[in-house]
Amino acid sequence: MSIMWDLPDFDGHEAVHFFHDVETGLSAIIALHSTHLGPGAGGTRFWHYENRETAVTDALRLSRGMSFKNAMAGLPLGGGKAVILADRSRAKSPEMLAAFGRMIDSLGGRYVTAEDVGISTADMVEVSKQTKYVSGLPVSDDGDAGGDPGPFTAMGVYLGVKAAVKHKLGRDSMEDVHVAIQGVGSVGGGLARLLAKDGARLSIADINKDHATQLAAEIGASMVGLDDVMRLEADVFSPNALGAILDKVSIAHLNVPIVAGGANNQLATPEDGQRIFDRNILFAPDYVINSGGIINVGLEYLGDSNVDEVNHRIAKIPARLTEIWKESASSKLPSAEVADNMARALIGR
Ligand code: NAD
Repeated sequence: MSIMWDLPDFDGHEAVHFFHDVETGLSAIIALHSTHLGPGAGGTRFWHYENRETAVTDALRLSRGMSFKNAMAGLPLGGGKAVILADRSRAKSPEMLAAFGRMIDSLGGRYVTAEDVGISTADMVEVSKQTKYVSGLPVSDDGDAGGDPGPFTAMGVYLGVKAAVKHKLGRDSMEDVHVAIQGVGSVGGGLARLLAKDGARLSIADINKDHATQLAAEIGASMVGLDDVMRLEADVFSPNALGAILDKVSIAHLNVPIVAGGANNQLATPEDGQRIFDRNILFAPDYVINSGGIINVGLEYLGDSNVDEVNHRIAKIPARLTEIWKESASSKLPSAEVADNMARALIGR
């Protein structure tokens, strides 16, 4: 039996909590990587995992990612993440979400949640009936920060893609820049719409074919196969589905000068950051480019801000990425490693 502390992704987590609710059958993991800068903040993922080990690894990697993301976004928040192990025999129910809310509450504010894949704003409302350690709730006033983080994440990714195109290709406009987008849900779909307005040429792929077909018709994008999107000759490959998609094999087949997208934990292993760098592909570290959503829900939770402040902070993402790319070029270190080093310095590790 492997012990939690020995897992490769453990990385000094402060705590990892395993929960089970007998009545609803809910199983959930809440991983807290660091509370050095504040309460561990990060969304809840609801997902059908192949097995429990995969769920643990996902929670650990996502939680550490949140520590780094919150630190690099300049938020007084630590890093944590929850995963709910979806079970095909039971649908997500208000009772299950209530049980999950009680689990969060039992941590007394060391963990603050919000939406992630498979969790909606309505789900967060159910959770908030049991605990105050929730953000990503509907906003009552137009000017308030908060609510669905997806559009804010999409805006940050959009600004990051533009910064990458400027940095690597020297182009100020997205007109005719070809972007291949994997996953067009909340983040990827928002990104696609923003890029379409700028006249970018878009190729999109999504396992939800109906949704992708509809979006393609709406914005004039081309549909490409799930296996083709990562091999397409384009200016940018933008991953906006799930993580660990950049590995030895897929990196060898990339046919783009830039990888910049919102998916969390895109690199399958740390060595893959080096592999991308060795291929002279500009890589936008995911937790820097996709921090728009946590800036929005983080400021909502901290309770002292509004949409203008959120947008002001999201507008700093391109400068942060450019600083990383410049340091990467001068130090000859992969951008992912440069970002990790900067984040670790901020969280005192
Ligand atoms: P979502 O569920 O709205 O969208 C994900 C999309 O990817 C769906 O349309 C799904 O059908 C598609 N998809 C899944 N597997 C695929 C595959 N193999 N190939 C192609 N498409 C596939 O989720 P989202 O909120 O848009 O999040 C997308 C990614 O961005 C996730 O990695 C998430 O962790 C990350 N992220 C999201 C936010 C946010 O604010 N929502 C913030 C930071 C990071």
